[in-house]
Amino acid sequence: MPLFDPTAFRREFSCFSSSDMLGIYLDNAATTQLPDEVVQTLVSYYQQGRSNVHRSSSLLANQVTIAFEQARTTVAAWLGADTEQLIWTSGSTDGLNRIASGLTGQFQENQAIIVSALEHHANLIPWQQVCQQNNLQLLIIPTTEAGDLDLTQFEYLLNTHSVALVACCHVANSLGTHNNVALISKLSHQYGALCVIDGAQAVAHLDVDIKQLDCDAYVFSGHKMYAPTGIGALIGRIDFLERLTPTRFGGEMVREVGYYNASYRELPYRLEPGTPNIDGALALAQAVTFIRRWHAGRHDYEQNLLNYTIAQLAAIDGVKLVATPLQQCAVIAFEVIDVHPFDITSWLNEQQIAIRCGYHCAMPITKALTRYGSIRVSLASYNTQSDIDLFIQTLQQAIDINRL
Ligand code: PMP
Repeated sequence: MPLFDPTAFRREFSCFSSSDMLGIYLDNAATTQLPDEVVQTLVSYYQQGRSNVHRSSSLLANQVTIAFEQARTTVAAWLGADTEQLIWTSGSTDGLNRIASGLTGQFQENQAIIVSALEHHANLIPWQQVCQQNNLQLLIIPTTEAGDLDLTQFEYLLNTHSVALVACCHVANSLGTHNNVALISKLSHQYGALCVIDGAQAVAHLDVDIKQLDCDAYVFSGHKMYAPTGIGALIGRIDFLERLTPTRFGGEMVREVGYYNASYRELPYRLEPGTPNIDGALALAQAVTFIRRWHAGRHDYEQNLLNYTIAQLAAIDGVKLVATPLQQCAVIAFEVIDVHPFDITSWLNEQQIAIRCGYHCAMPITKALTRYGSIRVSLASYNTQSDIDLFIQTLQQAIDINRL
């Protein structure tokens, strides 16, 4: 018997049986569905009476505060970090922006920032802003023809510039490229640069150990890993987090406040002003517990399903894979020769197959590699081979209709 049973995993998500709109869901890179126990965590928080955290000393408030801090420990430990290394955010975009603006004033004019050609806008535009506002150079790690990062070029850039920071995705949402971020982090540090990793597309699929990656900061979003929207985390080395200047101010982050001055608390609270997303944090921790429980065989299952999907797509006349990275994770981008991607996805969407086309918030790379944007299939562990078979069959119909 295989270690991982996708049908049993799928049964944990009653949305698949109760919704008549969900159909075949292959848009998991945009957001995943919620397992019942995560939904139940949200419901329980409200049904049992809610409270704010770290403020009141009522019985309920104490309990909620303990659960909230326990959630921080659960999520941090899952990624190999200590509790105080985790700052709650509203998602990857929030985490990356907080890092970029928290470092403002710490760069010098002759320095450079490196990002990869594969970045989502969330890990590109904040660095464009930093560079424009501080007169830094923005350098791009190019890709090879297959869609991998060209690490020889990366080292050349590090060697020929004074690089302050490198920001790179763990898995690219546009092509599915699984980058060797441990090596990217090691090289960055060798050349004296900080290294920030965007893990938005990685944490649902890979075993991530932040100590092993040895990056300075790692961000991710809950909603791409079976948790709700509006919650995510920034995990950083303590010395890196200490360098981040708070960019938002208010209650809870403070130690002593006078009319003209304030002093701040220790990490992580110093970077968490205001009421946090309490139910989101509890639900994210539950999603982590869920993922851990389903660990055995899950990654291999996903990888096999990905390889199966790639093989099926490659066998269709007229389908062109946008990239064929050496290591690919959960995402496949393709085009249909001479047919606009929107015409294909419209047909698929009408047949209840949720799939997306366009630039996927990674416009520079998608524009460079495609004619009108790509069609993207993105997998989660509840997808089955029969989902893929139906998708392929419907795709073939879409191609035939559009070629009439
Ligand atoms: N980075 C990557 C690689 C992503 O795929 C996404 C979401 N598509 C983001 C960052 C931004 O995540 P969020 O919208 O949850 O902030």
